Formats: sequence, structure tokens, C-alpha cells
Amino acid sequence: MSLLTTWFSNKETKEKTARPILSEILKTMREGVIVVGEDTRIVASNGAAYNAFSRNNGVLEEKRLSEVVRDLSLHEAFRKALEEGKSSDIELEIPGIEKLKYDVHIAPIEFDKSKGAIGVFYDITQIERLERVRQEFLSNISHELRTPLTSILAFVETLEDGAIKDEENNQRFLKVIRKNAQRMHRLIDDILELSIIESGKITLELKRINLNAFIEEVFTNLSSKAKERRIKLKNEVSHDAFVFADAVRLEQMLTNLIDNAVKFNAEKGTVIVGFEEKNEKNIISISDTGEGISSEHLQRIFERFYRTDRARSREIGGTGLGLAIVKHLARIHGGEVSVASALGKGSTFSIELPKG
Ligand code: ADP
Repeated sequence: MSLLTTWFSNKETKEKTARPILSEILKTMREGVIVVGEDTRIVASNGAAYNAFSRNNGVLEEKRLSEVVRDLSLHEAFRKALEEGKSSDIELEIPGIEKLKYDVHIAPIEFDKSKGAIGVFYDITQIERLERVRQEFLSNISHELRTPLTSILAFVETLEDGAIKDEENNQRFLKVIRKNAQRMHRLIDDILELSIIESGKITLELKRINLNAFIEEVFTNLSSKAKERRIKLKNEVSHDAFVFADAVRLEQMLTNLIDNAVKFNAEKGTVIVGFEEKNEKNIISISDTGEGISSEHLQRIFERFYRTDRARSREIGGTGLGLAIVKHLARIHGGEVSVASALGKGSTFSIELPKG
């Protein structure tokens, strides 16, 4: 038997204690509670209901339910509780800048020898949003995996149908199969990486890092790719610049951004890495001389799988997850990543890190 039930079983205590306890329970509940009388005027409500439905119109008590929430199915559910004594559950949507969604349980009650009805409003806005994000993510993953898989299957079938003996083409077909298998591999690696970072399970080993030397190493790793496109890599970070970061994660962020700056640059373009200290922050910038990003895309490119040109990104080996990974890594450092771009002139990505 719970503590509350034990207390209430004692008649004297019950009278004295029940009201204040119930009132405290109502006050602290995250669910909104609205009680109406027979005339559908509100006779009681709690703080959560006030926050959700008052919209600066003052207390809810004495108002008609229809003045507070305009929703036919909610009114019908309260009517059913008052007139037919029946409980029901409905989903309620409140329009606004951010659409709110509630799971509402409505039930008949009796108080002071008269009939009434109670509605308990459970806010499911965030649950719904997460469910939408989850479904979108799954559908994106399926799509991204299906494209290379379809290509692999088609080329395997072609080889099986006789092309394996075609000396002129069989090696080329095998290369396409390998390229698509590698793409799937990269994609799965990125998905796993993103899921580990997002789960908050990684711990950072923060240390003071000489940025100039660090950038040189990242440049070395990307030099053959830059050479292929005849891109010049310029390290403009001064020799005495230091940042406070996890070396592995910093390398991951810089590699992603410099790799993009090479990939999306104009042939024979330039990538410049710079550094400045501003308002207690260290800012690393990566600028390119590529085609730039238009403003409609600019605010979305850090989203998972968002690409300005999906086909081109795939062709040059992108997964569409790189910037989402960079965003999360910057945030777990207590920093942020941002972008500025001018069409036809190029883009500058900036990683902002706390000074430590
Ligand atoms: P991807 O694997 O496609 O490179 P990212 O998450 O790294 O995925 O980048 C998302 C998209 O942002 C890219 O597909 C591209 O459209 C755009 N983008 C990223 N970096 C640049 C850049 N330096 N210049 C122009 N567009 C870029």
C-alpha cells in the first residue's frame, strides 16, 4: 500500500491532508488538467494547463472551455463525459508558430453532488517531432543504401549473363561494383559515427594543440586529392597559435571541412586555413574559391543527408553526413560551426572553440 493510500485510510488525516496534497500534486504535474462543470465552464485547472492554454488571457477558471480551446473533437469528448458519462481519448492539435500536439484523456467526474468532466492533457509535441525525424532518417538511409546496391546487383547480373568473359569490359564492371560497395561502406561508417557522437557516449581528451603543425598534417593526408584537382592548400595559421581540443576529433572536423573545400572548389582553386582569437573564442576558418552556396541551402547544409546537388555529391564520394558530424563534434567541444558564402566566389566554414 502506498504512503498516500495509508494516509487517506485514516479518516481524520484524510480530511486535513488530502486537499493540500492533491493541490500540490496538481501543481507539480507536467500534464495539464482542466475540470469543467455541467455548463462547460472551467471550475479548476493546474499550472501546466494555464501555461498551455491561457495565452495571456488570465486565469482559466470561470471561462467556457470553448473560449480557451477551439477544437470540435475536444468539445465533443467533454460533452460525452458530461451528458453520457463516458470517457474518451483524443489527439488535440493547437495551431501556432510551433504546432503543439496533445494526447487528451477526458472522463466524467462528480463533485459537490454535481456532474463535471476532467481532461488530462499530455504534451506529445516532442515525441511526434522525434518520430518524424526518425522516420525521415530511416527513409534517407534506405534510399542512400539502395542506390549503390541496385547498381551492384545490376553489374553482377551483367557479369553472370556472360560479360565475365568479355575481356574488354569485365574489369571496368568490377571497378563499378567495388566503387559502389565502398560507398556503402563509407555510408555505414558515417552513420555509426554519427550515432555514437549523438548518443553522447564519446569522451573528449582535451589538450593544447599547436594549430599550424596540426593543419600541416591534415594537408599531407589530403594532398593527393588536392593534387588531382590542382588545388593549392594554404596554411595561414601563425606558428604560435594554439587551440584547446581533442586531437582525434579536431582532425575529423578539419579533414571533413578541408576535404569539402577541395571537392567543391573550382579546378586549380585555393583552400586557405586561417585562425583568429575573438571574444574569448578561438576561430579556425577554412575558405575555398568554389562555386559557393546559395542562401536557401546555406541554412540546411548541416542537416543529415542534406546536399545542394545529391547526384554530384554521390559521384564525388560524399555521404551527406560530413557536416552533421562536424556540427556535433564542435558542439561537444562547447563550440559551434558556421558558414558564410557568396555565390560564384566561394565559402568560408568557421569552427569556433572555447579558449579552454
Ligand atoms: P557530402 O558528403 O555531400 O560532402 P557534407 O555533409 O560534407 O556531405 O556536405 C553537405 C553538402 O553541403 C554538400 O553535398 C554540398 O552540397 C555542400 N557543401 C559542403 N561544403 C561545401 C563547400 N565548401 N562549397 C560548396 N558546397 C559545400
